[in-house]
Amino acid sequence: MTVRALLLNQAADRKVTGTIETLPLDRLPGGDVTVAIEYSTLNYKDGLVLTTGGGLVKTWPHVGGIDFSGTVERSDHPDFRPGDKVVLNGWRVGELHWGGYATKARVKGDWLVKLPAAISTRNAMAIGTAGYTSMLCVMALQKHGILPAAGEILVTGAAGGVGSVAVAILARLGFGVAAATGRPQEAAYLRSLGAATVLDRKEITEAPDRPLLSERFAGVVDTVSGVMLAKALAQVKYAGAAAACGLAGGASFPGSILPFILRGVTMYGIDSVMLPKGPREEAWRRLGSDLPLDKLDSTVTEVGLGEVMDLAPKILKGEIRGRVVVDVSR
Ligand code: NDP
Repeated sequence: MTVRALLLNQAADRKVTGTIETLPLDRLPGGDVTVAIEYSTLNYKDGLVLTTGGGLVKTWPHVGGIDFSGTVERSDHPDFRPGDKVVLNGWRVGELHWGGYATKARVKGDWLVKLPAAISTRNAMAIGTAGYTSMLCVMALQKHGILPAAGEILVTGAAGGVGSVAVAILARLGFGVAAATGRPQEAAYLRSLGAATVLDRKEITEAPDRPLLSERFAGVVDTVSGVMLAKALAQVKYAGAAAACGLAGGASFPGSILPFILRGVTMYGIDSVMLPKGPREEAWRRLGSDLPLDKLDSTVTEVGLGEVMDLAPKILKGEIRGRVVVDVSR
Protein backbone atom coordinates (compact mmCIF):
# COMPACT_ATOMS: atom_id res chain seq x y z
CA MET A 1 0.00 0.00 0.00
CA THR A 2 1.33 3.40 -0.96
CA VAL A 3 0.37 7.04 -0.66
CA ARG A 4 0.90 9.75 -3.29
CA ALA A 5 1.85 13.00 -1.60
CA LEU A 6 3.15 16.49 -2.28
CA LEU A 7 6.28 16.20 -0.15
CA LEU A 8 7.72 19.51 1.07
CA ASN A 9 11.30 20.28 2.04
CA GLN A 10 12.85 23.50 3.29
CA ALA A 11 16.22 24.81 2.07
CA ALA A 12 18.71 26.76 4.23
CA ASP A 13 17.26 30.08 2.94
CA ARG A 14 13.80 28.93 4.25
CA LYS A 15 12.46 28.52 0.71
CA VAL A 16 10.12 25.53 0.51
CA THR A 17 10.18 23.13 -2.44
CA GLY A 18 7.64 20.44 -3.21
CA THR A 19 7.70 17.25 -5.28
CA ILE A 20 4.99 14.66 -5.81
CA GLU A 21 6.22 11.32 -4.50
CA THR A 22 4.85 7.84 -3.92
CA LEU A 23 5.61 6.71 -0.37
CA PRO A 24 5.01 3.50 1.58
CA LEU A 25 1.95 3.77 3.86
CA ASP A 26 4.11 3.38 6.96
CA ARG A 27 5.62 6.83 6.30
CA LEU A 28 2.30 8.34 7.49
CA PRO A 29 2.35 9.62 11.09
CA GLY A 30 0.52 7.76 13.87
CA GLY A 31 -3.24 7.99 14.41
CA ASP A 32 -6.26 5.78 15.04
CA VAL A 33 -8.08 6.53 11.77
CA THR A 34 -6.82 6.23 8.19
CA VAL A 35 -8.71 8.31 5.64
CA ALA A 36 -8.65 7.91 1.86
CA ILE A 37 -8.49 11.60 0.97
CA GLU A 38 -10.58 12.79 -1.97
CA TYR A 39 -10.14 16.56 -1.80
CA SER A 40 -8.08 19.16 -0.04
CA THR A 41 -8.00 22.93 -0.46
CA LEU A 42 -5.79 26.00 -0.30
CA ASN A 43 -6.06 28.44 2.59
CA TYR A 44 -3.98 31.49 3.48
CA LYS A 45 -2.12 29.41 6.09
CA ASP A 46 -1.36 26.74 3.45
CA GLY A 47 0.17 29.55 1.38
CA LEU A 48 2.57 30.28 4.26
CA VAL A 49 3.51 26.60 4.73
CA LEU A 50 4.11 26.10 0.98
CA THR A 51 6.34 29.17 0.52
CA THR A 52 8.47 29.66 3.68
CA GLY A 53 6.92 27.30 6.21
CA GLY A 54 5.69 30.45 7.97
CA GLY A 55 7.30 29.21 11.20
CA LEU A 56 4.38 26.76 11.43
CA VAL A 57 6.18 23.56 10.43
CA LYS A 58 8.67 22.06 12.89
CA THR A 59 9.97 19.01 11.00
CA TRP A 60 10.77 18.38 7.34
CA PRO A 61 10.00 16.66 5.03
CA HIS A 62 6.38 17.65 5.51
CA VAL A 63 2.97 17.20 3.89
CA GLY A 64 0.87 20.39 3.98
CA GLY A 65 -2.87 20.90 3.61
CA ILE A 66 -4.75 22.08 6.73
CA ASP A 67 -8.04 20.65 5.45
CA PHE A 68 -9.16 17.45 3.80
CA SER A 69 -12.27 15.42 3.13
CA GLY A 70 -12.61 11.77 2.22
CA THR A 71 -13.74 8.32 3.28
CA VAL A 72 -12.63 6.40 6.37
CA GLU A 73 -10.58 3.42 5.25
CA ARG A 74 -9.58 1.96 8.64
CA SER A 75 -10.59 2.93 12.16
CA ASP A 76 -9.65 1.97 15.71
CA HIS A 77 -11.81 4.85 17.01
CA PRO A 78 -15.28 4.01 18.36
CA ASP A 79 -17.01 6.89 16.48
CA PHE A 80 -15.82 5.99 12.97
CA ARG A 81 -16.22 3.05 10.62
CA PRO A 82 -14.86 2.32 7.15
CA GLY A 83 -17.04 4.08 4.60
CA ASP A 84 -17.85 7.15 6.77
CA LYS A 85 -17.53 10.45 4.89
CA VAL A 86 -15.46 12.82 7.00
CA VAL A 87 -13.90 16.27 7.04
CA LEU A 88 -10.91 17.57 8.96
CA ASN A 89 -10.14 21.23 9.64
CA GLY A 90 -7.33 22.53 11.79
CA TRP A 91 -5.93 20.84 14.92
CA ARG A 92 -2.59 21.94 13.42
CA VAL A 93 -2.85 19.21 10.79
CA GLY A 94 -0.87 20.40 7.75
CA GLU A 95 1.42 22.26 10.19
CA LEU A 96 2.66 19.93 12.97
CA HIS A 97 1.00 16.76 11.60
CA TRP A 98 1.02 15.65 7.94
CA GLY A 99 -2.01 17.04 6.13
CA GLY A 100 -4.30 16.86 3.13
CA TYR A 101 -1.99 17.15 0.10
CA ALA A 102 -1.85 13.36 -0.23
CA THR A 103 -4.11 10.46 -1.17
CA LYS A 104 -4.22 9.19 2.43
CA ALA A 105 -3.87 10.58 5.96
CA ARG A 106 -3.58 8.95 9.34
CA VAL A 107 -5.01 11.14 12.13
CA LYS A 108 -6.70 11.09 15.54
CA GLY A 109 -10.38 10.25 15.19
CA ASP A 110 -11.11 13.00 17.72
CA TRP A 111 -10.11 15.53 15.04
CA LEU A 112 -12.61 14.28 12.45
CA VAL A 113 -16.18 15.43 11.88
CA LYS A 114 -18.73 13.28 10.02
CA LEU A 115 -20.08 15.18 7.03
CA PRO A 116 -23.79 16.02 7.02
CA ALA A 117 -25.53 14.13 4.18
CA ALA A 118 -26.18 17.40 2.31
CA ILE A 119 -22.44 18.11 1.91
CA SER A 120 -20.36 16.07 -0.56
CA THR A 121 -16.61 15.61 -0.02
CA ARG A 122 -15.98 18.08 -2.87
CA ASN A 123 -18.31 20.68 -1.39
CA ALA A 124 -16.69 20.14 2.00
CA MET A 125 -13.43 21.37 0.53
CA ALA A 126 -15.13 24.15 -1.43
CA ILE A 127 -16.16 25.21 2.08
CA GLY A 128 -12.89 24.22 3.83
CA THR A 129 -11.48 26.00 6.87
CA ALA A 130 -12.33 29.29 5.18
CA GLY A 131 -16.05 28.52 4.86
CA TYR A 132 -16.27 26.83 8.25
CA THR A 133 -14.66 29.94 9.79
CA SER A 134 -17.21 32.13 7.97
CA MET A 135 -19.96 30.06 9.58
CA LEU A 136 -18.35 30.52 13.02
CA CYS A 137 -18.30 34.30 12.44
CA VAL A 138 -21.97 34.33 11.43
CA MET A 139 -22.89 32.14 14.43
CA ALA A 140 -21.10 34.62 16.75
CA LEU A 141 -23.09 37.55 15.34
CA GLN A 142 -26.35 35.59 15.61
CA LYS A 143 -25.60 34.49 19.20
CA HIS A 144 -25.01 38.16 19.95
CA GLY A 145 -28.63 38.66 18.91
CA ILE A 146 -28.17 40.55 15.65
CA LEU A 147 -31.18 40.13 13.37
CA PRO A 148 -31.48 41.14 9.70
CA ALA A 149 -33.69 44.11 10.67
CA ALA A 150 -30.77 45.62 12.63
CA GLY A 151 -29.03 46.73 9.43
CA GLU A 152 -26.24 45.77 7.05
CA ILE A 153 -23.37 43.46 7.97
CA LEU A 154 -19.98 44.55 6.65
CA VAL A 155 -17.77 41.74 5.29
CA THR A 156 -14.12 42.72 4.74
CA GLY A 157 -11.78 40.91 2.33
CA ALA A 158 -15.06 39.94 0.70
CA ALA A 159 -13.69 38.42 -2.52
CA GLY A 160 -11.36 36.08 -0.59
CA GLY A 161 -12.26 32.61 0.69
CA VAL A 162 -13.67 33.47 4.13
CA GLY A 163 -15.28 36.64 2.81
CA SER A 164 -17.02 35.03 -0.19
CA VAL A 165 -18.64 32.30 1.90
CA ALA A 166 -19.63 34.79 4.64
CA VAL A 167 -21.39 36.93 2.02
CA ALA A 168 -23.31 33.90 0.69
CA ILE A 169 -24.38 32.65 4.15
CA LEU A 170 -25.43 36.06 5.45
CA ALA A 171 -27.44 36.81 2.30
CA ARG A 172 -29.14 33.41 2.53
CA LEU A 173 -30.10 34.18 6.15
CA GLY A 174 -31.74 37.42 5.00
CA PHE A 175 -29.08 39.91 6.10
CA GLY A 176 -28.20 42.92 3.96
CA VAL A 177 -24.50 42.49 3.19
CA ALA A 178 -22.02 45.27 2.45
CA ALA A 179 -19.01 43.57 0.82
CA ALA A 180 -15.73 45.52 1.03
CA THR A 181 -13.15 44.56 -1.57
CA GLY A 182 -9.93 45.90 -3.03
CA ARG A 183 -10.90 44.26 -6.33
CA PRO A 184 -13.74 46.30 -7.86
CA GLN A 185 -13.69 43.91 -10.85
CA GLU A 186 -15.22 41.30 -8.49
CA ALA A 187 -18.36 43.43 -7.86
CA ALA A 188 -20.58 41.28 -10.11
CA TYR A 189 -19.28 38.10 -8.42
CA LEU A 190 -20.01 39.52 -4.96
CA ARG A 191 -23.50 40.60 -6.01
CA SER A 192 -24.12 37.10 -7.40
CA LEU A 193 -23.28 35.72 -3.95
CA GLY A 194 -25.92 38.03 -2.47
CA ALA A 195 -24.11 41.26 -1.52
CA ALA A 196 -26.56 44.19 -1.51
CA THR A 197 -23.75 46.77 -1.49
CA VAL A 198 -20.20 46.45 -2.84
CA LEU A 199 -17.74 48.92 -1.30
CA ASP A 200 -14.27 49.81 -2.49
CA ARG A 201 -11.99 48.77 0.37
CA LYS A 202 -10.72 52.39 0.46
CA GLU A 203 -14.16 53.64 1.48
CA ILE A 204 -13.46 51.98 4.82
CA THR A 205 -9.67 52.35 5.15
CA GLU A 206 -9.64 56.00 4.03
CA ALA A 207 -12.60 57.06 6.18
CA PRO A 208 -11.75 60.05 8.44
CA ASP A 209 -9.27 59.22 11.16
CA ARG A 210 -11.68 59.51 14.10
CA PRO A 211 -12.36 56.95 16.88
CA LEU A 212 -16.12 57.11 16.20
CA LEU A 213 -17.71 57.55 12.78
CA SER A 214 -21.41 57.57 11.81
CA GLU A 215 -23.17 54.38 12.93
CA ARG A 216 -23.59 52.34 9.76
CA PHE A 217 -23.23 48.56 10.26
CA ALA A 218 -25.17 46.25 12.59
CA GLY A 219 -22.22 43.85 12.56
CA VAL A 220 -18.91 43.05 10.91
CA VAL A 221 -17.21 39.88 9.68
CA ASP A 222 -13.56 40.91 9.50
CA THR A 223 -10.90 38.86 7.71
CA VAL A 224 -8.40 41.70 7.29
CA SER A 225 -7.58 43.41 10.64
CA GLY A 226 -5.31 46.51 10.47
CA VAL A 227 -6.82 49.90 9.60
CA MET A 228 -9.81 48.11 8.03
CA LEU A 229 -10.88 46.62 11.38
CA ALA A 230 -10.24 49.84 13.31
CA LYS A 231 -12.35 51.92 10.90
CA ALA A 232 -15.04 49.23 10.67
CA LEU A 233 -15.41 49.17 14.48
CA ALA A 234 -15.80 52.95 14.45
CA GLN A 235 -18.89 52.49 12.22
CA VAL A 236 -20.65 49.71 14.15
CA LYS A 237 -24.07 50.70 15.47
CA TYR A 238 -24.86 50.90 19.18
CA ALA A 239 -24.67 47.40 20.83
CA GLY A 240 -23.54 45.80 17.58
CA ALA A 241 -20.67 43.33 17.20
CA ALA A 242 -17.71 42.37 15.05
CA ALA A 243 -16.43 38.83 14.53
CA ALA A 244 -12.70 39.09 13.85
CA CYS A 245 -11.04 36.05 12.30
CA GLY A 246 -8.26 37.17 9.98
CA LEU A 247 -5.14 39.22 9.48
CA ALA A 248 -4.83 39.54 5.69
CA GLY A 249 -4.02 43.24 6.23
CA GLY A 250 -1.65 42.81 9.20
CA ALA A 251 -1.69 41.44 12.74
CA SER A 252 -2.11 44.72 14.65
CA PHE A 253 -4.90 47.25 14.37
CA PRO A 254 -4.77 50.92 15.29
CA GLY A 255 -8.11 50.97 17.11
CA SER A 256 -9.72 53.09 19.81
CA ILE A 257 -11.54 51.92 22.93
CA LEU A 258 -14.41 54.32 22.22
CA PRO A 259 -16.64 52.00 20.13
CA PHE A 260 -16.54 49.53 23.05
CA ILE A 261 -17.16 51.96 25.92
CA LEU A 262 -19.40 54.55 24.28
CA ARG A 263 -21.41 52.34 21.92
CA GLY A 264 -21.31 49.02 23.76
CA VAL A 265 -19.78 47.33 20.73
CA THR A 266 -18.51 43.76 21.24
CA MET A 267 -15.65 42.12 19.37
CA TYR A 268 -15.63 38.32 19.13
CA GLY A 269 -12.36 36.55 18.38
CA ILE A 270 -12.90 33.55 16.12
CA ASP A 271 -10.53 30.58 16.20
CA SER A 272 -11.29 27.61 14.00
CA VAL A 273 -8.14 25.58 14.69
CA MET A 274 -8.49 24.36 18.29
CA LEU A 275 -12.26 24.81 18.60
CA PRO A 276 -13.81 21.88 20.54
CA LYS A 277 -15.79 19.23 18.71
CA GLY A 278 -19.30 20.38 19.78
CA PRO A 279 -19.27 23.83 18.12
CA ARG A 280 -17.39 22.34 15.14
CA GLU A 281 -20.20 19.85 14.53
CA GLU A 282 -22.76 22.63 15.00
CA ALA A 283 -20.95 24.75 12.39
CA TRP A 284 -20.88 21.88 9.84
CA ARG A 285 -24.58 21.17 10.49
CA ARG A 286 -25.37 24.83 9.93
CA LEU A 287 -23.30 24.84 6.72
CA GLY A 288 -25.45 21.95 5.51
CA SER A 289 -28.60 24.05 5.89
CA ASP A 290 -27.57 27.73 5.60
CA LEU A 291 -25.02 27.81 2.79
CA PRO A 292 -26.49 27.94 -0.71
CA LEU A 293 -24.41 25.17 -2.29
CA ASP A 294 -25.28 26.32 -5.83
CA LYS A 295 -23.64 29.68 -5.06
CA LEU A 296 -20.64 27.89 -3.57
CA ASP A 297 -19.84 26.36 -6.96
CA SER A 298 -19.28 29.80 -8.47
CA THR A 299 -16.54 30.46 -5.90
CA VAL A 300 -14.55 27.32 -6.79
CA THR A 301 -11.45 26.82 -8.91
CA GLU A 302 -10.47 23.13 -9.04
CA VAL A 303 -6.82 22.11 -9.41
CA GLY A 304 -4.66 18.97 -9.09
CA LEU A 305 -1.90 18.35 -6.53
CA GLY A 306 0.74 19.47 -9.05
CA GLU A 307 -0.70 23.00 -9.28
CA VAL A 308 -0.72 23.80 -5.56
CA MET A 309 2.87 25.10 -5.31
CA ASP A 310 2.25 27.73 -8.02
CA LEU A 311 -0.91 29.01 -6.34
CA ALA A 312 0.66 29.45 -2.88
CA PRO A 313 2.30 32.87 -3.48
CA LYS A 314 -0.94 34.09 -5.08
CA ILE A 315 -3.10 33.45 -2.03
CA LEU A 316 -0.56 35.36 0.09
CA LYS A 317 -0.91 38.32 -2.28
CA GLY A 318 -4.73 38.22 -2.13
CA GLU A 319 -4.94 37.25 -5.80
CA ILE A 320 -7.14 34.14 -5.43
CA ARG A 321 -10.86 34.63 -5.91
CA GLY A 322 -13.10 32.53 -3.67
CA ARG A 323 -12.07 28.96 -2.97
CA VAL A 324 -9.56 26.52 -4.45
CA VAL A 325 -10.46 22.80 -4.34
CA VAL A 326 -7.56 20.36 -4.75
CA ASP A 327 -8.41 16.98 -6.30
CA VAL A 328 -5.63 14.85 -4.80
CA SER A 329 -6.18 12.05 -7.34
CA ARG A 330 -4.68 14.17 -10.13
P1 NDP B 1 -7.87 34.93 1.08
O1 NDP B 1 -6.47 35.29 0.66
O2 NDP B 1 -8.69 34.06 0.22
O3 NDP B 1 -8.69 36.27 1.33
C1 NDP B 1 -8.17 37.38 2.02
C2 NDP B 1 -8.76 38.63 1.39
O4 NDP B 1 -8.38 39.76 2.17
C3 NDP B 1 -8.21 38.92 0.00
O5 NDP B 1 -8.89 38.21 -1.00
C4 NDP B 1 -8.46 40.40 -0.09
O6 NDP B 1 -9.86 40.57 -0.36
C5 NDP B 1 -8.24 40.89 1.33
N1 NDP B 1 -6.88 41.43 1.51
C6 NDP B 1 -5.70 40.80 1.25
N2 NDP B 1 -4.67 41.60 1.57
C7 NDP B 1 -5.21 42.75 2.05
C8 NDP B 1 -4.65 43.96 2.54
N3 NDP B 1 -3.33 44.16 2.61
N4 NDP B 1 -5.51 44.93 2.96
C9 NDP B 1 -6.83 44.75 2.90
N5 NDP B 1 -7.43 43.62 2.43
C10 NDP B 1 -6.61 42.63 2.02
O7 NDP B 1 -7.71 34.30 2.55
P2 NDP B 1 -8.84 33.55 3.40
O8 NDP B 1 -10.16 34.15 3.09
O9 NDP B 1 -8.64 32.08 3.32
O10 NDP B 1 -8.41 34.00 4.87
C11 NDP B 1 -8.63 35.34 5.29
C12 NDP B 1 -7.95 35.58 6.62
O11 NDP B 1 -8.58 34.79 7.63
C13 NDP B 1 -6.47 35.20 6.65
O12 NDP B 1 -5.77 36.15 7.40
C14 NDP B 1 -6.48 33.84 7.33
O13 NDP B 1 -5.26 33.58 7.97
C15 NDP B 1 -7.60 34.05 8.33
N6 NDP B 1 -8.22 32.79 8.78
C16 NDP B 1 -8.37 32.63 10.13
C17 NDP B 1 -8.97 31.50 10.62
C18 NDP B 1 -9.19 31.39 12.08
O14 NDP B 1 -9.36 30.28 12.59
N7 NDP B 1 -9.21 32.48 12.79
C19 NDP B 1 -9.38 30.41 9.74
C20 NDP B 1 -9.28 30.72 8.32
C21 NDP B 1 -8.69 31.88 7.88
P3 NDP B 1 -10.40 41.64 -1.43
O15 NDP B 1 -9.60 41.39 -2.68
O16 NDP B 1 -11.84 41.36 -1.55
O17 NDP B 1 -10.10 42.99 -0.83
